Amino acid sequence: MCMDVVGQCPGKTRWCLDRAVGPLSRCQSAADRCLDSTDRHLGKTSWCLNAVAEVSEMTQTHSLQKLLDELERLPGIGPKSAQRIAYWLLNNETDTAERLANAIVEVKASVHFCERCFNYAEDKLCPVCAKAAQGQRDNEIICVVSEPRDITAIERTGEFSGVYHVLGGAISPIDGIGPEQLRIRELLQRLAAADVCEVLLATNPNVEGETTATYLARLIKPLNIKTTRLASGLPVGGDLEFADEITLGRAIEARREI
Ligand SMILES: [Zn+2]
Repeated sequence: MCMDVVGQCPGKTRWCLDRAVGPLSRCQSAADRCLDSTDRHLGKTSWCLNAVAEVSEMTQTHSLQKLLDELERLPGIGPKSAQRIAYWLLNNETDTAERLANAIVEVKASVHFCERCFNYAEDKLCPVCAKAAQGQRDNEIICVVSEPRDITAIERTGEFSGVYHVLGGAISPIDGIGPEQLRIRELLQRLAAADVCEVLLATNPNVEGETTATYLARLIKPLNIKTTRLASGLPVGGDLEFADEITLGRAIEARREI
């Protein structure tokens, strides 16, 4: 038993050995055998670990290791995914790797923030603001979001025809992000300069998003502009019995007549 424990948790070997010699005094001889075996085992483990490190260095070329290190830094990519991508790139034509590398360099060189709403853009204005300038979007409704990717999510619904304002984050004192780190001043300048009749606060329904929405609602209220917040509701296709209390409570609060 002792050997099994030692084998399973090499990191706690000392603790395991103490237990073997102390409480298990009835099997002292077994514990002694265990200590001998453990020494041999530890010797082997150490040899194994060194061997693994050497094998790893020997099998990965410098440039492949460099690519793996860079891929692992990407969000959502672990060591196994990095290895899969790296080997896929190696097994494909050179063109494939070049197209990917060029796309990354190009997007970094050509994409910047829209000067009006701070969405991503290649020209001065993003596609939404460009359409708004041509009268194809409603300039009187501004939807405030935390990140540019939130615009993509709302656009997918096809339900919003106004324009956007990207804050660049949400208020989070723990992370050291206060109102001054967000593009709130720019939002107030837009509200002062343009004829806006509604501001839709579409920050995330979490602590940071709710704090940001409450803070903005207080700032905008004196401007006599209608301020709305995205409703919280139940997922389509879901069951009431599995809904959490807060979501279900808000769904009841924001019920509408049909
Ligand atoms: Zn824009």
